[in-house]
Parts: sequence; structure tokens; C-alpha cells
Amino acid sequence: MAQQPITEKQKEKAAKIHAKVLTIDTHADVPINMMKDGFDVAARHDFEEDGSQIDFPRMKDGGMDGMFFAVYLGQGRRTPEATAEAKEKALAIFDKIHTAVAANPVVAGIATTPKDAYDLQKQGKRAVFFGMENGWPVGNDLANLELFYDLGLRYITLSHSANNDICDSSTDPDGPEYNGLSPFGEKVVQEMNRLGIMVDISHVSDSTFYDVMKSTKAPAIASHSSCRALCDHPRNMTDDMIKALAKNGGVIQINFVPSFVKKPSQQQELSMTAIRLKMRQVDLSNDDKKALYEEMKAMREKYAGDMPTVAEGVDHIEHVIKLVGVDHVGIGMDGGGQLVGCRDVSEIGNITAELVRRGYSEKDIEKIWGGNIMRVLAATEKVAQSF
Ligand SMILES: [Zn+2]
Repeated sequence: MAQQPITEKQKEKAAKIHAKVLTIDTHADVPINMMKDGFDVAARHDFEEDGSQIDFPRMKDGGMDGMFFAVYLGQGRRTPEATAEAKEKALAIFDKIHTAVAANPVVAGIATTPKDAYDLQKQGKRAVFFGMENGWPVGNDLANLELFYDLGLRYITLSHSANNDICDSSTDPDGPEYNGLSPFGEKVVQEMNRLGIMVDISHVSDSTFYDVMKSTKAPAIASHSSCRALCDHPRNMTDDMIKALAKNGGVIQINFVPSFVKKPSQQQELSMTAIRLKMRQVDLSNDDKKALYEEMKAMREKYAGDMPTVAEGVDHIEHVIKLVGVDHVGIGMDGGGQLVGCRDVSEIGNITAELVRRGYSEKDIEKIWGGNIMRVLAATEKVAQSF
């Protein structure tokens, strides 16, 4: 069925709401770029030129008030040496982000609490929160959690694409190792509760998710996951998981990466995975980067007709609302998404426009864009204070 186009009046209404509500994205991969030579997060970049999706100027253009910058490390070996190196690399990423924000006090500030985010919004500055994607740098030492908390960390995605010492991942090629959380992982969740770090179940296996639901005293989040009912991928959440997460008071932050929004053809999936893996390498030369970008562009053109749209991304938000109500859904686009109509952070107003077109109220949109995740962060702080 053809959808009703958005009216001028709705566009105006959406722009007003978008400017007013706190907009938070819980998963920004921009530190991967920041760790490369020559990338300045305070300078404007062009998606057409380098494929990057986030920097402070484009956050401002798009009305993106705050993002959780991901301290990301792809899972490597789990030897003491490799784990120690992962911790050093994580600390270097923290340092890079702190330095970049400190160098731009007029445009951005570090946020660790909901109050910080609302205050920075009032001052017209971008709020930079810290999330950690993959608990690998925690190693086997719970004391690292407090170290990272003190550096500003407010969520940890327990695993990435492979199992680690904390839990099983949803996509480990060797399958499950513990059937959920490891005994150490149980302690990690308890310590995160004690400190006030949100437990993020994106990337983990279904069994890990259910173990977290049993062990966490604070509401949990999925920082960047979508709905499996609409796109069958192990990275997405089943309806039963979404219901359990809502019962726990948590929130699923919908991911706008195309392959999690709409199932791509097998052919397309293979090409995309190959390119994404290559892009995650840190030692790329400028020529490598250029070649990769050309490859990506060619791939996008080839499959242009199959790319999901903003409306298809919003279908996931709506699916959660129909299932468990508007209090348990938010947005974690993973770098601006790359949907037709939203390929970098400067275009997120189109998401609000689509929500308005579908008849959502300002109050609903306020919850989706930031209210829900700030509620969970506040609840996590409260649980920590009760220890
Ligand atoms: Zn991820």
C-alpha cells in the first residue's frame, strides 16, 4: 500500500518537535575514525567523500544532541597479554575522546548523567557519553570496571561478534561456550549494577540475554539492536526478548544498519560484510580508504533498489510500541544508519518527520529520542546508590 506523503504542516510540526526534544543516539562508532590519523571530529566531513557519518558539525546540523561514543574493540585472543593490550587500547580511546571534547569546549561536553545531557542541550552543546562495545578489555579483573566508570563509562555491551570471558555472543562461529553468562560474567553484571554502568545486551546470545534478565538489579538496554520479527538476524531481538526487557524496565534502541532493518539478499550480505570488515582496520592508507570507499559506493549503487528506507527503520520502532508500549524503545543507529533518507547524522530529522507522519505525539517522540534511555540511566544510578 502506498503511504501518505508527509504534508507541509506535518513537516513544520516535526521540525519544531525535533528542535525541542533531547535527541540521543546510544551507539556512535565515530571513535573508530577518531583513532585514525587526520580525522578531526570537530571538522565537517562529507559522506560522499569518505563515508563517515558523524562529526560535531553534522551532529549540530541534524539536531543530534547527544551520542554514546563507543569504545570499541573487536574480539581478539583471550590470553593475559592480548587482554592487557585490549585494556591499553581501550584507555587510548577514552583518552582520545576526552582530549577531543576538551579541545572543543564551545561545541561539546562530556556527559555521564541525564542532568548533564539536558544541561548541555540547553547550552546548545553536543553531549558525549561513553559506551564500551565488547567487555573484552575488562579481562578477568573486576577492578577494571571502576577504572572505566571513573573515566565516564555508562554502558558496556557485554560481547561483540565472538564469545569472551563474560558471555556468549550471538554470532560466534564456534557456537556457545557457557550457554549464557559465564560465572565471571555474573560478577561483572553485579559490579556494573553496583557502580551504575548500564548492562547492554546488543550482540550477546539469546541465552546470555535471559541470564542478564535474571541477574541484573537495574534495567538493561540493547544499545543497537532491531526486531527479529521484521528482520531475522541473530543480532536482533525476538518479541519474547523485547517483552522480557520491557518487564525489566529496560529499552531497545533500534539499529538502522540496513542488514538489521531488512534482510538483504545473500549476495549483498556477503559483499557488505567483506567491506565492513576491511573498514574496521586501523592501519589503512589514504589510497586504501579511497579504494574501499569506491567499492562501497559501487556496492550501494548495485543494490540501491533493495536498500531499506527511513520508513522501514521506523517500522521497527512501531513494532516495539505495538508490542510493549512507547516507554521501551529508543534509537541507536550505529553511525547514522545508512537508510535511504538517513545516511549520516545530519539527516536524523527525517526520522522525526516519519514519526509525526504516523501520528505520534510530541510526548511519544520525546520518549523515543531520549526520554526512555535517560530514564534507564537514572534508574541505573539509583540502583547503584542503593548498594
Ligand atoms: Zn555493534
